[in-house]
Parts: sequence; C-alpha cells; structure tokens
Amino acid sequence: MSLESGIPMSSSSSVSAPTAAQWERVLGRLRVEFGDAVFKSWLKPLTFANAGEGEVIVSVPTRFMRDWVERHYLERIRAIWCEENSGVRTVAVRVHRPATPKAAALGPNGLGVPQNSNGAANGNVNGNGHAQQLTPAATPTNGAPVITGGEDRADISAPLDPRFTFENFVVGKSNEFAYAAARRLAEAKTVPFNPLFLYGGVGLGKTHLMHAIAWAIRERYPNKRVIYLSAEKFMYQFIRALRFRDTMAFKEQFRSVDVLMIDDVQFISGRDSTQEEFFHTFNALVDQNKQIVISADKSPSDLEGMEDRMKSRLGWGLVADIHQTDYELRLSILQSKGEKLAGAGANVPAKVLEFLAHKITSNVRELEGALNRVVAHATLVGRDISLETAQDVLHDLLRANDRRVTIEEIQKRVAEHFNIRISDMSSARRARAVARPRQVAMYLAKQLTSRSLPEIGRKFGGRDHTTVMHAVRKVEELRAGDSSFSEDIDLLRRMLES
Ligand code: ADP
Ligand code: MG
Repeated sequence: MSLESGIPMSSSSSVSAPTAAQWERVLGRLRVEFGDAVFKSWLKPLTFANAGEGEVIVSVPTRFMRDWVERHYLERIRAIWCEENSGVRTVAVRVHRPATPKAAALGPNGLGVPQNSNGAANGNVNGNGHAQQLTPAATPTNGAPVITGGEDRADISAPLDPRFTFENFVVGKSNEFAYAAARRLAEAKTVPFNPLFLYGGVGLGKTHLMHAIAWAIRERYPNKRVIYLSAEKFMYQFIRALRFRDTMAFKEQFRSVDVLMIDDVQFISGRDSTQEEFFHTFNALVDQNKQIVISADKSPSDLEGMEDRMKSRLGWGLVADIHQTDYELRLSILQSKGEKLAGAGANVPAKVLEFLAHKITSNVRELEGALNRVVAHATLVGRDISLETAQDVLHDLLRANDRRVTIEEIQKRVAEHFNIRISDMSSARRARAVARPRQVAMYLAKQLTSRSLPEIGRKFGGRDHTTVMHAVRKVEELRAGDSSFSEDIDLLRRMLES
C-alpha cells in the first residue's frame, strides 16, 4: 500500500500534535483491518480536519456518514490513532460538505441527493447532502443549505448495512424466488411489478434483500433516489410531522422518490392515521409509476389490523415469500461465512459447520450468531474449533432449538388437519387420502426437525429414507403448482411452530 511508503517509522507513537501523515497511517491500518469494500465506502471519504489538545477532528461529507462512522468505526479509529500518537485522547467526526457536490451525491448510502442547477443538494428528500452543524468559518460559499443544530427533518432514510448485498446472499430453494424478484427489480430500467411484497419469518433475509436492492440500484442507476426505512420510522416521521403541522413536507419527501422501500409493515397495522397516510403515499407513488418494495412477516391477506383496501393494494404486484431454511441452505450459508472467516484466520472445520446446520434450524440470524459465538470463543481461549467446543459454547442455544417440534406432534397435527387416524401415519395403506397427508407430515418433519431422512422414515412405520425423500420432493412440487395447498402447509407449519 502506497500510503505507508516514505513515512518514517520513527514518528510512530510520538506525543507531538497529531498530523496528517499520522492520519494517513491510521487510514492505512483501517484499510487492512476492515477490507477494501468497507474502506472505500466509509473510511476513505474521511478527511483530517484539524487537531487540538489531545483531540483530532476528522470530517465527512454527510451527516448520514457521520452517524454510521461513529457507530461502527469510531472506537477503532480512536484506538489506532492512540497507538500512532499516544497524545490523542478523543476523535470527533464533523460534517463538512465539500465544495464539489459530487462527493455528497455519491455518498455511501447511495440514496442520491437531488442536485439543483448550481450543484447544491436541494434538500427535501433525505438530507444526506446537507451540511450540518458547520462552524461559521467552514460555511460553504456555493449557497448550499446549511442547517445548524436540531434534527434534520429531511433525514429519513435509514443506513444501509454494507454486508447486505446480493453477492453476500446465499440462494437456496426457500429464497430463490424472492431473490430473483429482488434482483430483477434492482436491475430493471422500468418498474417490473409494483409493489414487490416480500414476506417471511424473522431472520430469513428480508432486510438483507431490501438493502441489496438499494445497493444494486445505487451502483447501476446512481441518479435514482431510493429511500429505505422501517415502517416504525415511517410512522414516527409521520407523527412528528403531524405534531409540527408539517405534513405537506412529509408527503413531499416520499412523493419525490424513485424507489420507496418500507421494511416490516406489520408495524403499521392497527395505526389508522399512519395507515391512511401510507395508503395515500403508496397510491401516489404507484400512480407515478415509482417502485415500491414492502416487507412484512406475513402475506398481505394475513396482515392483521390492516384495512382491506390496503391489503388488496399490497397484493397487486408481485408477492414473494421466503420459506424456512432447509439443511442445504443453512450449510451453504455457513460455508460461505466460513470461507470469509478462514480468510481472517479462523478455521472452522466442515464437521462443525454441518453440526450447526443440523442443529440451528430456527433462522439465519441465529445460525450466524452461533457461528460467531463459536469462533469468538475459540479466538479468546486460543484453541482450535472442534465439535466438542462448539457443543459446549452453544449448549443453551442447542437446547432451545431442540425444544422444537417433534415428529409425533407433526403426525398428530397433520392427521387432525386432514381428518385421518394417527395410526395411518405409520400404516401400510396407500390410498391417496392417507398417503398424501403422510407425505405432508414427512415433509414437515424434514423442514421442522433436525432428524435425518432414515430417522424420519423409521417414525413413519419403518419406511425407507428414499420414501421420505420422494415425499419431500412431491410436496415441494405440489406447493409450487398449487397455492392453496401451499398455504395449507404454511398454516400447519405456523401452528406447529407456535
Ligand atoms: P429479516 O429481515 O427477514 O428478519 P435479515 O435480513 O435481517 O432477516 O437477516 C438476518 C441475518 O441473516 C442477516 O445477517 C443476514 O445477512 C443473514 N441472512 C439471511 N438470509 C441470508 C442468506 N440467504 N444468505 C446470507 N445471509 C443471510
Ligand atoms: Mg428485517
């Protein structure tokens, strides 16, 4: 890295005033530590502003970046700087919009701030281009709006997680449709379907896909304006606008976007005034052919406390659900994370990955958490990762996942649902009326428990594992072709899981 060349080592750890050269070294180390992608997006745009008694000030072009950097990197920046210069006590991040408007428009969230003719951010959409809390001396001369103090009303878009990209999303049977829809939308020049409604249980990748859409649009169409926010934040903004009697401005913010993404809309359920506003905003955007992406934990028709007209409107476009993960997907996700960890020096044996994929069936978030815990533990105690240590470190989590559904429960529920005898789950009868429910039960046993195919076969009257495999495939096939059958299965699954 050229950053470090030519800088005399002897200046390391001096107690003199912090210098720009030290900052270059700090940046160099941050780059090594966080990798190129993070570095380019978040750290490279930082500039050394000035330094006083034990304090260093670095500036960023947008307020959004300041918040992100403060939350994620500030502590490391301070620690590294302290190593470079032991006189440094604190590092502060200030917002200073550079004279060239480009830097702000291409800010790391890519939620392109509109530019007016003189290049100034015109403000109302998300305020990421705003100069904030500038000292008078730093006030830009190009007429850009300067807001001093107070919370920026226009700063509505939530930060995007740099890890949540399409590249980092592992595709499997349970999420391939949602993934394909998200990709299609992100790449399309014109609106392909409106809205895209993504739904599925917690921790299965909805937010990840939404951020991935935003990142991809940012890259392909830097001029498109994308707003991503949680439904809660939408609600909060709206209530705030009501309080300040400023609903016009609120509406304008949303109505001037190209893509509006609202995460977890189930939180708007039951809030009549917010729902009303959401409905109008939604209609206005759809009428203007602007793209909308919504996520929720349930399908549009199952959203409780949502008005019927809203439910039906939400279901107009493309509805894509993300199912529970299966073993293969869990293993692929772990392998992909495992590779990254191996790159960082932590080696997780394949056996451990397989073990976790078998045992942690609840959702991807827990799966990731489990892997991280195992790795963190091994690093701390300085021992290699093994099956034993994994079991040891995760005993509470494993117990919680084990407490899940049993095959007996599945058989009982499914038999009740289809009105057949439980004994028929293991009988030799082959009539469709009993064979189909039996297949459904086998399918659910595969999905909801960590039992292997032979184990499942044994519980169904000693059937062979190929019979179970066939049942799983058959049910998947039927689900794909028959949505009411598919809903039936989802209902059963929810009942079993609750
Ligand atoms: P949700 O919004 O559905 O509750 P998230 O999108 O927050 O779930 O996902 C939870 C975690 O699991 C995130 O860290 C996300 O990156 C990860 N994750 C979920 N699905 C996948 C996938 N298919 N590939 C890689 N990571 C995933
Ligand atoms: Mg989410």
